[in-house]
Amino acid sequence: MKIMKFGGTSVGRPERMHQVKDLITRGDEPTIVVLSALSGTTNALVGIGEALASGNKALAKERIDTLHAHYLAFYPALLQTAEAKAKAEEIIKEHFEFLNILLKISFNEAINRDILAQGELLSTKLFYTLLGELQIPAVFLPALDFMSIDENSEPELPKISEKLKAILAQYPNERLFITQGYICKNHRNEVDNLKRGGSDYTASLVAAAINASVCEIWTDIDGMHNNDPRVVDRTRPIAEMSFDEAAELAYFGAKILHPASIWPAQLHNIPVKLLNTMQPDAGGTLIKAAVETTGVKAIAAKDGITAIKIKSSRMLLAYGFLRRIFEVFEKYKTPIDMITTSEVAVSVTIDDLSHLEQIQAELQSFGTVEIDRNQAIICVVGNKVAETKGALQSVLDSLIDIPVRMVSFGGSKHNVSILVDAQYKTQALKSLNEGVFDWSN
Ligand code: ADP
Ligand code: ASP
Ligand code: MG
Repeated sequence: MKIMKFGGTSVGRPERMHQVKDLITRGDEPTIVVLSALSGTTNALVGIGEALASGNKALAKERIDTLHAHYLAFYPALLQTAEAKAKAEEIIKEHFEFLNILLKISFNEAINRDILAQGELLSTKLFYTLLGELQIPAVFLPALDFMSIDENSEPELPKISEKLKAILAQYPNERLFITQGYICKNHRNEVDNLKRGGSDYTASLVAAAINASVCEIWTDIDGMHNNDPRVVDRTRPIAEMSFDEAAELAYFGAKILHPASIWPAQLHNIPVKLLNTMQPDAGGTLIKAAVETTGVKAIAAKDGITAIKIKSSRMLLAYGFLRRIFEVFEKYKTPIDMITTSEVAVSVTIDDLSHLEQIQAELQSFGTVEIDRNQAIICVVGNKVAETKGALQSVLDSLIDIPVRMVSFGGSKHNVSILVDAQYKTQALKSLNEGVFDWSN
């Protein structure tokens, strides 16, 4: 079996949904199709939740009505027959009645997550209605029946696998299954999600759960590019990369992939392909275990980083100091991205600021603590980049005009990370683009 995941732009217009229908019916291999919400919907749902959270019901109502109008304009262009149109009207009515009821009850976080789930529920049901109209046999698989996360919001892969295999076993002769990306149940059995961009993660988890032959991520660009196309003018797609390279790029800001979406596929050695719905025959990017290339392959940037420096003369020649520092972050479940140390100071970066005050207070017992907000990590990725002659030199040469706050090199073979103030992010990405890649061919 294979997995085909389509992102928001790929289902965001009626004609795109028709294209998706063409793509999923091209081959013979049984396929699980994972769909995101129509582009713009999750942002709109976030806006509705925010309005409700702040008690502004009038604004929430206005936002619900705007989104409702979008769907009322969408389905007549998607469907032809009166029967299918009536089904779509019923689906849209059900979901917008639900949103409107929320205007009358008190708001909480669980309700907010229910709101966020509406996008994927709507897109998959409308798409399934289209398949029905065209008499394309398919099975609707509600993701909430098998996707789950534990109390630390980590996906429960063994459980997902067991449940999904049991469901699929009921349909031995079917070849098309449609399910929602992003949404899941949490340990309290409430509706939850895999964070923004989470449909990629769903696709990879589903692929791992059933040991799929391939996990295809269909989006609006022809694969992973060597730099952020939203920031840099000149970028090019990368034909092949390793799981490690892709994981690093996803984690450090390449928006094309959810930050955690590589590990499930990597765990089961399932190739991941990044493909363009609008240009289905473009090569895209193949992500797999072993790749022969070396040197800098791509650059990404992650915003919203805070650097924390702990300085103490007690650290000199002392052992156990780092452990005590890390324990503070562990206590507050705050992951660290980058670390650099000297004899008398440690600098770390975090992006989850929920417990920054408590962390700062506890670290102060070890020495002076300095906090720099609004930083960005620039991540330079490539197989064996740390061992490639001249690679570090060309990275640092490219950044000659930019104040660099931290450099992390040698932690892994395929990454050099640089911390700069966020105001230098664009300049850093552009300078590196010219400095580290060969654009002559
Ligand atoms: P989808 O809705 O299909 O999940 P996303 O918007 O999440 O699509 O991801 C695709 C977008 O990621 C592209 O349109 C592009 O602007 C952005 N992007 C950022 N960095 C990269 C990169 N290195 N390579 C390709 N795309 C990238
Ligand atoms: N619809 C969700 C979002 O916009 C999940 C996804 O698109 O991957 O974040
Ligand atoms: Mg995405």
